[in-house]
Amino acid sequence: KSKGKKQAKAAKKTIKQTAVLGAGIMGGGIAYQSAVKGTPVIMKDINQAALDLGLKEAATILGKGMQRGKVNAATMASTLNNIVPTLEYSAIKDVDLVIEAVVENPKVKGIVLAETEQHVSDDTIICSNTSTISINHLAKSLKKPERFCGMHFFNPVHKMPLVEIIRGEKTSEDTISAVVAATLKMGKTPIVVNDCPGFLVNRVLFPYFAGFSRLIMDGADFVAVDKVMEKIFGWPMGPAFLLDVVGMDTADHASSVMSDGIPERMQKIANDPVTLLYKANRLGQKNAKGFYNFS
Ligand code: NAD
Repeated sequence: KSKGKKQAKAAKKTIKQTAVLGAGIMGGGIAYQSAVKGTPVIMKDINQAALDLGLKEAATILGKGMQRGKVNAATMASTLNNIVPTLEYSAIKDVDLVIEAVVENPKVKGIVLAETEQHVSDDTIICSNTSTISINHLAKSLKKPERFCGMHFFNPVHKMPLVEIIRGEKTSEDTISAVVAATLKMGKTPIVVNDCPGFLVNRVLFPYFAGFSRLIMDGADFVAVDKVMEKIFGWPMGPAFLLDVVGMDTADHASSVMSDGIPERMQKIANDPVTLLYKANRLGQKNAKGFYNFS
């Protein structure tokens, strides 16, 4: 009976204070999104310049909102006040939810997750924003993996509605329900998926990219394919442009993870144009040259 009571109490856990680890593109965006929806957030990095950039990015998004009349001065001030930058783990000791968004490296993430667990209380929920690393693998770094799951935001965080919540083998239902509630409070739409290579979105997207690569290798013109998919079929953009947005480094890495993880479904493509562009340092919008030139 007392166990039942305890579970009911845990299920009601609300997130009043969040921490984001890593103040890069994603960490900065997640911190902004939490802050603008009223949940104070501690933004931790190992690098002061990254913290400064994360705060600047939040101010820029708010500034654009003000220009469009969507944000008033009070929201601007309260949002910026809600983001507290730090270089110290000691600052996260009282948070209810930690969202890890450091570099996409399993070793680094494993160390950061283990360090995090040493600095928070026993019932703090810990999530990873990884795009490709197995949640079950990352869970091995934690002593209490039942409080851990994936919380996969999309870039740019303030515009993209979806958050994939990834349930690991050991994730408790209380953890999932608290993270679903936190996602809704952040103004985003959660979906809960099981751990697998590519989760849900990349599972759909990468076979599409692979089909596109094979078409080009068969001699199709990428500009023509983009024109058909965007202007005539009616999607917001074609595959070549979307790959330029995602980045050839990210796309090449994610497709390798998927072909390693589910080789029978996602065969590796020899001389994939995406890999060739990546090797030629044509990364896409991030360095102004990919399928298209952006300068
Ligand atoms: P990024 O390189 O912009 O930022 C990473 C940040 O982590 C840097 O500021 C770095 O200083 C910091 N960092 C490194 N080690 C740290 C540590 N030990 N403690 C605290 N901070 C540390 O990377 P990003 O694009 O924001 O990606 C972060 C995560 O989000 C990755 O796991 C990535 O796969 C995932 N993700 C990225 C995208 C995207 O489109 N960029 C989309 C969804 C998910």
